[in-house]
Amino acid sequence: MRVALLGSTGSIGRQTLEVIRALRPRFQALALAAGENIESLLQQVREFNPAVVSVGTEEAAERLRRELGLGRAQPEILWGEAGLREIASLPEVQIVVNGLVGAIGLEPTLAALEAGKRVCLANKESLVIGGHLVKRALARGGGELIPVDSEHSTIFQLLEGRRPEEVKRIILTASGGAVRDRPLEELPSLTPEEVLCHPTWRMGRRITIDSATLANKGFEVIEAHWLFGLEYDQIEAILHPQSVVHGLVELADGTLLAGLSPPDMRLPIRYALTYPERLGGSQVELDLRGLSLEFAEIDPQRYPAFEAVVEAGRLGGTMPAAINGADEVLVERFLRREIPFTRIAEGLRLVLREHREFGGEEPGLEEVLAADRWGRERAKKI
Ligand code: MG
Repeated sequence: MRVALLGSTGSIGRQTLEVIRALRPRFQALALAAGENIESLLQQVREFNPAVVSVGTEEAAERLRRELGLGRAQPEILWGEAGLREIASLPEVQIVVNGLVGAIGLEPTLAALEAGKRVCLANKESLVIGGHLVKRALARGGGELIPVDSEHSTIFQLLEGRRPEEVKRIILTASGGAVRDRPLEELPSLTPEEVLCHPTWRMGRRITIDSATLANKGFEVIEAHWLFGLEYDQIEAILHPQSVVHGLVELADGTLLAGLSPPDMRLPIRYALTYPERLGGSQVELDLRGLSLEFAEIDPQRYPAFEAVVEAGRLGGTMPAAINGADEVLVERFLRREIPFTRIAEGLRLVLREHREFGGEEPGLEEVLAADRWGRERAKKI
């Protein structure tokens, strides 16, 4: 299977290449797209020999061309958002892994689905800001959408082969991030270093901060709404510090199914690539002995961002795009020490109050992207 990997030098990208390395020669990385991290990309190009590569800017493309030199067959080098879209719809590619971070991931997802590809989706913004557009592209292009987010991959597997009327509700678990056990009065003075210390997962910076505010879990509720076609009332979230149970499904008769695995993204990536097959040889194993599992209610005082984001999902239209755009900027500003940790959630609530929908219930791509820009601009002024 020929794979195009978007965001190859990020956390999901690097782990996807590890999985592909283990599944060679059946799977090959035919195309890689990265941003500005040319050093890592060079190593990846040398090892995986992709036919096409895309980078963030024209300058980065020049640099890559120079560094690769003339001594070998060069890949075709593209750049910018056009490069991402092109890589996502290459005719030779069967699977697109979208590991991009942020709203920039939406258009490549749409391009890949329109072209009938399987999209292994780690870019949650695709569904958060453009869920209705993704569904439309899926119906039009005849592609497939397989979640890579660990909670969604688990629930996807638990739901396999079930009819909608069998399912009462689903439950997503949340580790509670770095602030779970801090006294509430300490939250305003937390430093980026303290919040970047995630107790169970190793991830990129934005998602680690989003896991501490639980904005991430709110975005995952929206993601689940679109992926599984469930009403918001059927989707719940619960704190689970060990990150061993990733998701649960309650069936109509009250039976509760749970999916367990160690917190290791290589597992959902592997399943998304090989679905519906299950290939052996995975190094990931869970030892149940000595394991204790705890669950607790999400405290709205500690995690006000969670409810704000879920509310944006319920309101629909361009509200999720506005709140997501704002969150990206607020997290960046917290990391640059411009605002305190607790201001992130306050900023999200402000967006919820102030954003006026663009384009009604089914906004087009332009309106969604305009709402994203609106959210960013608003967050810069907070
Ligand atoms: Mg997740």
